[in-house]
Amino acid sequence: MKSRLIAFTAAAFAACWGGAANAKPLDVVASFSVLGDIVSEVGGSHVAVMTLVGPEGDPHAFAPTPQDAQVLAKADLVVVNGLGLEGFMDRLIAASGYGKDLVVASQGIATREMDEEGETVTDPHVWNSAANGAAYARTVAAALAKADPTNAKDYAANGEAYAAKLTALDAWAKQELAAIPAAKRKVITSHEAFGYLGAEYGVEFLAPQGISTEAEASAADVAKLIDQIKGEKIKAVFLENSTDPRMAKQIAKATGAKLGGTLYPESLTGPAGPAPTYLKMFRYNIETLVKGMKAN
Ligand SMILES: [Zn+2]
Repeated sequence: MKSRLIAFTAAAFAACWGGAANAKPLDVVASFSVLGDIVSEVGGSHVAVMTLVGPEGDPHAFAPTPQDAQVLAKADLVVVNGLGLEGFMDRLIAASGYGKDLVVASQGIATREMDEEGETVTDPHVWNSAANGAAYARTVAAALAKADPTNAKDYAANGEAYAAKLTALDAWAKQELAAIPAAKRKVITSHEAFGYLGAEYGVEFLAPQGISTEAEASAADVAKLIDQIKGEKIKAVFLENSTDPRMAKQIAKATGAKLGGTLYPESLTGPAGPAPTYLKMFRYNIETLVKGMKAN
C-alpha cells in the first residue's frame, strides 16, 4: 500500500511539473507475447510493456528466471491470460513479492470446457476468437485506466479503436471460412489450441496433444487419430511455431496428408516473421487454414 501511494504521488508530481508527455510510463508486465501486443496497442505511449514469454515461446512450458522476478517486483501492473495457461505465474508472483493488481484478461468471457483423460478442464486459448480479443482489449483498457487514471480517456479511446479492428477481423474471418464447404472444415494441429476459433468459425480441429503442450500424447491416442484422419480423408495437417513439430510430421507421413504450413496459436513471431502482432497473427492463421482446407 505504501509503495502504491508513493508511486501515485510521484505520478501526480510529474503531471504537474512536466505535463503528461514527460510523465514516467506505466511499467506493465504481460505474461506472453499476444497479451503484450494487446497491452501495447491499448496503452500506447503511456505504457512500457515487458513480456515474459516472448515471440516463438511456449507459454505452457515457460521457466521464469530470477531476472523475471526482479522485473515483476518493479511492475506497476501485471496482466495474465488466466485459465491455467501460465502455470508458472503463481510461483513467480510469490517469489517476486509483487503485490499490486493482477489483471486476468480473459475474465468475463464464456469459456469452453473440455474432457481431457476423464477430467474436465477449461480451455485457456480464448484469444483465438477475434471477438474474444475485442473483449481482452476492453478489459485491458479498464485495468490501465484504473492503474493510471490521468490517462484514462486515452486508454478508453485506444481500447475501443483496437476492439473495432478485432470486430472487423472477426467478421472477415467468418466470411472467409463460410466460403469453405462445411465437410472440408477439418484440420489437424499439434495441440488443442484452436477450440475457440473452431467454435466461433465452424472449423473442426483434431490434435494428438491436449490443451497444454506439457502432457505427451499417448500412442493409443495417436493411433486413433491416424485412423480418423484416414477415415475422414482429412488432408490438412499444420505445424505450430511454438510446439515440437515431430508429432505433426509423423502423422502427416502415416496418413499421406500434406503439411499445410505453420500456424501461430499462442506466440507471435519477431518483426520479420508473418505474425509480429496479434492482428497479423490472427489474419495469417485464417488465411493459412483456408488454403490448407481447400485441399481436403
Ligand atoms: Zn496452448
